[in-house]
Amino acid sequence: MSITAVKGFRDALPEAARLLSRVETAALEILARYGFAEIRLPIVERTELFARAIGESTDIVEKEMYTFPDRDGTLLTLRPEGTASLVRAYVEHHLDQRDAIGRFSYVGPMFRHERPQKGRHRQFYQVGAELIGREDPLSDAELLLALWDVLDEVGIQGASLLLNSLGDAQCRPQYREVLRVFGEAHRAELCENCKRRLEKNPLRILDCKEPGCRAATTDAPHLVDHLCAPCAAHFGRVRELLDAEGVSYELDWRLVRGLDYYVRTTFEVLGPGLGAQSAIGAGGRYDGLVAQIGGPQVSGIGFAFGVDRLVLALQASNPDVESEIAAEMAPELFIAPLGAAAEAAALTVARRLRQAGMRIELDGGRSLKSLMRRADKLKARHVMILGEEELAQRRATMRDMEAKQDRKLAVDIDLTGDELLAAVGARRSA
Ligand code: AMP
Repeated sequence: MSITAVKGFRDALPEAARLLSRVETAALEILARYGFAEIRLPIVERTELFARAIGESTDIVEKEMYTFPDRDGTLLTLRPEGTASLVRAYVEHHLDQRDAIGRFSYVGPMFRHERPQKGRHRQFYQVGAELIGREDPLSDAELLLALWDVLDEVGIQGASLLLNSLGDAQCRPQYREVLRVFGEAHRAELCENCKRRLEKNPLRILDCKEPGCRAATTDAPHLVDHLCAPCAAHFGRVRELLDAEGVSYELDWRLVRGLDYYVRTTFEVLGPGLGAQSAIGAGGRYDGLVAQIGGPQVSGIGFAFGVDRLVLALQASNPDVESEIAAEMAPELFIAPLGAAAEAAALTVARRLRQAGMRIELDGGRSLKSLMRRADKLKARHVMILGEEELAQRRATMRDMEAKQDRKLAVDIDLTGDELLAAVGARRSA
């Protein structure tokens, strides 16, 4: 019996891999313009990091982590998200001493034991940004603009931004109690999960997907109406700055996020074409997290996009993206040598052109007919035919596969790569 991949763990075949990296590269490029420097983090951490950072009673920590003992018994976990690892690295390397303000981006696989479906996998990719050391509303607004500009650069249309404030250690406990009392009054209408949440984490009754719970909480008190004065002022200023930049958003009082570390500004981005799994990215402010991981008392705010979902949103926004990718992957030139001497020459010519930046497919050891068939299948724009006759004259035949025209071309294999490139003149843009 053949061995297959593990459920929820997918292979990204070349076209899919190219789409993932196109999205990641676009995101990292925008983030770099906003000053976020990429940082590479390990995919395995001590389990206690996530238990402490994300929160014991969150879905992730309670039931979604891939946790296993190392050979010495230490409990390890495949990271379910990036912020906890990044903050751990920030603290471990005293990055606050390098610069009081840190801007970092990261990209890579995350692991959660969820039920796989479209847009939801057990290994998925995130690209994220974290801004540590600022607590002013300007930094929230700037981070949200970075998020918005990433969507634009990736080419996603029709995304919407949901915004909420979760208050802070001053006002949230009071609201939590108000909500708990409200929830108790509606206890009978809540699902079993939410009954449990009422004790541990009552805010989560607001984002439960069960229709019964949604109905029961329709008239629940809103956190934004219970913010303390500093939190209300902060949120008001963030909104003013977004309004001034023309970024539209919806206030969503149900947006409480499943992670314990968030305070004040929280947000989620919904994308087009995703059905049930419409969240393409999310994030928020986490002012207590760095200290909680053993670092200094500094503020932070960040977001993560799900790269797999950005790809789905991109496909929904741009129906041509697949053919664009296919065109990017097709060889600019297919070199078809006939015979041993021509093959050796073709290897040299191909290498020079590749060094000059051209995408070349070189094939050999078969008939011209079968080489041409393959060049056609690969959608090569041009084919360079190098037979013995051509070689003797140092002239290759170039065939334009779209125009179906042959032209003789002097190929001196002693030319430099750039000279060859100019001589071949077969660049896709040409
Ligand atoms: P979170 O860390 O839960 O805030 O998730 C941030 C983003 O990662 C979400 O908005 C999704 O786009 C993506 N994401 C989270 N979980 C998964 C998953 N199991 N499969 C694919 N993407 C995911």
